[in-house]
Parts: sequence; C-alpha cells; structure tokens
Amino acid sequence: MGDYFQTIVDTEISEADAVPMAARVVEWLVAEGVVGPDRTEPVLGGGPGYPPGPRHRAVVDSGGWSEPWQAGGLEVVTTRTVFDAGQYAEPSGADCPRCGKTTEFRDEETWDDIPGAWDPFAVAEQAWLAGTDAPVRCAHCRAESPLTDWTGMDSAFAYGSLGFTFWGWPELTPRFLAEFGLRLDKHRTAHVHGKI
Ligand SMILES: [Zn+2]
Repeated sequence: MGDYFQTIVDTEISEADAVPMAARVVEWLVAEGVVGPDRTEPVLGGGPGYPPGPRHRAVVDSGGWSEPWQAGGLEVVTTRTVFDAGQYAEPSGADCPRCGKTTEFRDEETWDDIPGAWDPFAVAEQAWLAGTDAPVRCAHCRAESPLTDWTGMDSAFAYGSLGFTFWGWPELTPRFLAEFGLRLDKHRTAHVHGKI
C-alpha cells in the first residue's frame, strides 16, 4: 500500500505564511508523536519526508488494512501546487463560490469532455501557478471568483500553497482531520487522496 497517499491542503494560506505555518504544524505533529522530528524518510517524487512517529497508529483507521502494515513518510510542500489524486484524476465539474451552480467538464451520459468547459480554468491555473490570483468567470452567474475559491474538485485535485501528504497511511480519522484544521487556523482545507 506504499503508493496510496492522502494530502491535507490549506487552500487559503498565502505563500508567505506557508513556511511558518508548516513549521508550527510539524512541531505539533512531532509533540503528539504522529511523526518523527527529522526528515529521514524517502517519499515518492519528493525530498525526504518525516517518518511515522511512535503514536501514528492513533490517528488512522486501519480497520481494512492487514497487519503488518508500514506507514511511509509525511511530505510537506510550501509552494503553489496543484495537489492531485494521481495523474489521471480529472474533476467532473467545479462549483461556483458565488451562485453554487456547477460548471460541468464532462457530458454526464457519454463522459466525453465538454469542449471549452475546462479552458478558463486551465488559463487561470497557469496564471495562479505563476503567482497571480487569476479569476474564473462563472458561466451561470457571470461573477468572477478566484480559482482557489471554486469547490467540488477535491476528488481530483486541490489548489494551495501548503500541503501535507501522508504516504502509505491508512485513512486519517475525522477527529485527527478536525484537529489538523484547527491547527491551520481554521483555514479552508481540502482532503485529496489517491494512488499512483
Ligand atoms: Zn456562479
């Protein structure tokens, strides 16, 4: 199960605040025994991560996992990133933060891409990765909203400047996720998971 992963993304934090916030959260995780203090654990496609700590089993639901299982590292990213659920994960639509209506990217029946539907998001994504807060105009209400405020894409990816990826851990418990959210100053978060 080493290629299974889940990422907690802070979708509100600025890049400037991401590094100090990451340090505070890691300090808390180390104090709780969820991870070890030094980046010694190799993680897929990234720098070394934090190893699982002595109490990491307390924050997961390992009911469906056969023993013995071995959790991997915690990778912490503090730059603008599209945190995805695997390279083939695609959202079916996105929800406007103003009117709540969904912009569909695929035809519900044929599952084909709807021509042009994703284009404004693709443009905004490139601009956002380059450091600007490119808005996307809603096709329903015509209001413009920052790309990062659109919701409903968590099953495929989330945009954010701070992400914590747990590699090979069973499902994190709702209680731990709630506590994690408090530690992120109650910022809006997304929980992306997948396999590669
Ligand atoms: Zn709208």
